[in-house]
Amino acid sequence: MASHIVGYPRMGPKRELKFALESFWDGKSSAEDLEKVATDLRSSIWKQMSEAGIKYIPSNTFSYYDQVLDTTAMLGAVPERYSWTGGEIGLSTYFSMARGNATVPAMEMTKWFDTNYHFIVPELGPSTKFTYASHKAVSEYKEAKALGIDTVPVLIGPVSYLLLSKPAKGVEKSFALLSLLGNILPIYKEVVTELKAAGASWIQFDEPTLVKDLDAHELAAFSSAYAELESALSGLNVLVETYFADIPAESYKTLTSLSGVTAYGFDLIRGAKTLDLIRSSFPSGKYLFAGVVDGRNIWADDLAASLSTLQSLEAVAGKDKLVVSTSCSLMHTAVDLVNETKLDDEIKSWLAFAAQKVVEVNALANALAGHKDEAYFAANAAAQASRRSSPRVTNEEVQKAAAALKGSDHRRATNVSTRLDAQQKKLNLPVLPTTTIGSFPQTVELRRVRREYKAKKISEEEYIAAIKEEIRKVVKIQEELDIDVLVHGEPERNDMVEYFGEQLSGFAFTANGWVQSYGSRCVKPPIIYGDVSRPNPMTVFWSKTAQSMTSRPMKGMLTGPVTILNWSFVRNDQPRFETCYQIALAIKKEVEDLEAAGIQVIQIDEAALREGLPLRKSEHAFYLDWAVHSFRITNCGVQDTTQIHTHMCYSNFNDIIHSIIDMDADVITIENSRSDEKLLSVFREGVKYGAGIGPGVYDIHSPRIPSTEEIADRINKMLAVLDTNILWVNPDCGLKTRKYTEVKPALTNMVSATKLIRTQL
Ligand code: GLN
Ligand code: ZN
Repeated sequence: MASHIVGYPRMGPKRELKFALESFWDGKSSAEDLEKVATDLRSSIWKQMSEAGIKYIPSNTFSYYDQVLDTTAMLGAVPERYSWTGGEIGLSTYFSMARGNATVPAMEMTKWFDTNYHFIVPELGPSTKFTYASHKAVSEYKEAKALGIDTVPVLIGPVSYLLLSKPAKGVEKSFALLSLLGNILPIYKEVVTELKAAGASWIQFDEPTLVKDLDAHELAAFSSAYAELESALSGLNVLVETYFADIPAESYKTLTSLSGVTAYGFDLIRGAKTLDLIRSSFPSGKYLFAGVVDGRNIWADDLAASLSTLQSLEAVAGKDKLVVSTSCSLMHTAVDLVNETKLDDEIKSWLAFAAQKVVEVNALANALAGHKDEAYFAANAAAQASRRSSPRVTNEEVQKAAAALKGSDHRRATNVSTRLDAQQKKLNLPVLPTTTIGSFPQTVELRRVRREYKAKKISEEEYIAAIKEEIRKVVKIQEELDIDVLVHGEPERNDMVEYFGEQLSGFAFTANGWVQSYGSRCVKPPIIYGDVSRPNPMTVFWSKTAQSMTSRPMKGMLTGPVTILNWSFVRNDQPRFETCYQIALAIKKEVEDLEAAGIQVIQIDEAALREGLPLRKSEHAFYLDWAVHSFRITNCGVQDTTQIHTHMCYSNFNDIIHSIIDMDADVITIENSRSDEKLLSVFREGVKYGAGIGPGVYDIHSPRIPSTEEIADRINKMLAVLDTNILWVNPDCGLKTRKYTEVKPALTNMVSATKLIRTQL
């Protein structure tokens, strides 16, 4: 009985790769230094899997930036603007594509399926020339082999690669990317041939797009691609790996009839229905890679349950053709639990990070082969039982309150126009009210204060005084700029989810539970392990303090339930919506406390609402229904005169506009740095949406300072579509990553532009 790992985190247990990359980018270390860190990381990962007893160990899952970009490099599909002149692609061309350089912007980045990982989108067109320009897959294979470890080289499959691409600039949007299949397959063949020559006996093609909604034409591309590759692949065992969702029945049929393919990998965590397909028909003589260990979460596997699933699959695939695997690459989970010193032993016993999951996979394979490690299984069963019965997990009062929400509707009593009128009587705002999204620059000094307070190096009084001082400064700046609705600047927050998680019960925090988000960027999601409640007010003190410093309205600033949920590791012992309703109830209490404290405008950020959208269209409606309901729960109890804002970090609303409207916020501010025309036309279609809308008038992701004319021009373009009385003027996101030297002039120009236009109305 064999074991397999789909892929492994590349950042290192203490983010070694991140620091090596950033130091290299800053010119503080050499390419050799960077390569040394990378080589050491790869070898330690391979050795770790090999010592754990894993039979099929992946290679080519390491990356300096992104595995899709690696494939682009392999195919030599470098966009013209990087002036690449051929030969093997080196670090400088590679990083220019990833991050841009002094003269040329980076390639676009987008989310990898429904994960928080972002990949670099290939830009292809009829004139793209493909050549074999990165031998990384082969050299990684050889590198492992030199260490005595025979690996399974992993490539992004040719069809998924094309389906994840976009037409290059200047190429028609309707350009058929799949028409390039014939151009890229010769290179795949070259790579395969070299891998064979180097001694590989297995190869893994990741084709995760197979879990999406595909049409017949797209499915046919899989059949023809693998038919074309068949002769090159002969003599190899070929695994086609899928992950992240159930595979639709039609796609399952296509997949299991691909020529030349001898093994199929499935995500049996997110794809429970796939199990039925496998049981009803599985081709004889083929390998079944059963992804039973969750690659996207941090919970210890329920080994007894997995073992029984696996045993039932033995009858389907045959004992010698069943391989125990992870549901997807482990790069979407944290790296190693041994580095967690802050978590207590009980919670730790419930968890497994990538390093522990490798051991779980192997233990399952051994158990299937009749060598069950009884002590290991018993310890696991005890941990599962303790998690089920722990009073830290269950809070009956919360469960009852959350259960009572389901099925019923929660809405504010009056419609948005009535509410806006009532609010305006109190707020008395000018037309085109100006505001910002929440955070002001997070200075080195501010970070130091928070760090020292956490480490108990300064007293609570000193901490409060320092934060108050910061708020006073931010309030003064906004008053001087003549902004209409103020914010306190969020100086007390390290992160918009962590800040709330730390004050809610049911949350735990890791010291090193980092997950790669893009390039060298990692996030450290909180762990939601128990029923969520709010023991004490979380923001009221700061908002009240800030409001006392000004006569202008001060926005209360909260993170919404869906965003807290989507940016955390969530419980797997109850449905996501259940956890979301619990968080919604906690935020509702906060909203009501803010209102009682005299805060008249409250912003509830749902930066990540869209992110949680399921991969398959058939599941969208259900998700949007409970997500939007959760948001409404937070503010359905406030008076008409309390103005509820929400903010979203994306502008791609086309498919969810009705849900956004259904959130029923009074004002919505949104990111809008790229596609205003498109976005506004979407809002025009939702004409009945009478709420205030603030599409960002400038991009805060760039240090560039927009001029007054430029902002005025943007506002005018918006006014061509939106009514004067509903438009708000604001930047497109929070300002925390910017410097004051950028923020002050940019906001000055934003206010000037607004005033200019007000005189022209
Ligand atoms: N209020 C948050 C801020 O300004 C919103 C951040 C976000 O949308 N990601 O920082
Ligand atoms: Zn944002």
